[in-house]
Amino acid sequence: MTAAAASVEREAARLTDLDSAIGDADHGSNLQRGFAAVAKTLEAEPPRTPGAVLTTAGRQLISTVGGASGPLYGTLLRRTGKALGEAGSVTADELRAALRTGVDAVAQLGGAAPGDATMLDALDPAVEALGTSFDAAAEAAGRGAVATVPLQARKGRASYLGERSIGHQDPGAASSALLIRALADTADQEGAR
Ligand code: ADP
Ligand code: MG
Repeated sequence: MTAAAASVEREAARLTDLDSAIGDADHGSNLQRGFAAVAKTLEAEPPRTPGAVLTTAGRQLISTVGGASGPLYGTLLRRTGKALGEAGSVTADELRAALRTGVDAVAQLGGAAPGDATMLDALDPAVEALGTSFDAAAEAAGRGAVATVPLQARKGRASYLGERSIGHQDPGAASSALLIRALADTADQEGAR
């Protein structure tokens, strides 16, 4: 979460630029505000388990981020955290299964599927590729984000543009790629596989 907050902070302007093309130019600032609050909360009262880190972060995002992405990312983290349960440590396989639950919850909440040019276009292939490695997941998320460029947005604010949304990278897919990259880099540092 700390790495995610730092990455969002670094890339906020780019995320907002992407959102200014097909949305309302707030995605970077939304996530910047949300993840700064997450980092502060986790630092003030560090949760005792990986699951609790994610549920606390998710709750914080929901209460801090006004846009569509707040409840969606909040749900991703809360449901993933809940699926991890009370365990004090988590294997890569357990994390992958939990993230699958979280990503499915995002799809259910937003009614979107891969191919609709949303964050799911990065998250869904990332979870699949997590079976190979963290790095493969980050690469799959990055490819998924870039692959939204030729797609027409079917959900969220960008869908109001109809065909005019074609030719632009979805901001939420771009931020999801950043978050999965932060996960992979952190897993590397911790020696996880
Ligand atoms: P808002 O659209 O309310 O301004 P943000 O700009 O923070 O919120 O986030 C926009 C991103 O949220 C989109 O780029 C997209 O990836 C994601 N999104 C919006 N609606 C949905 C949905 N129904 N399902 C999945 N993702 C969505
Ligand atoms: Mg927006």
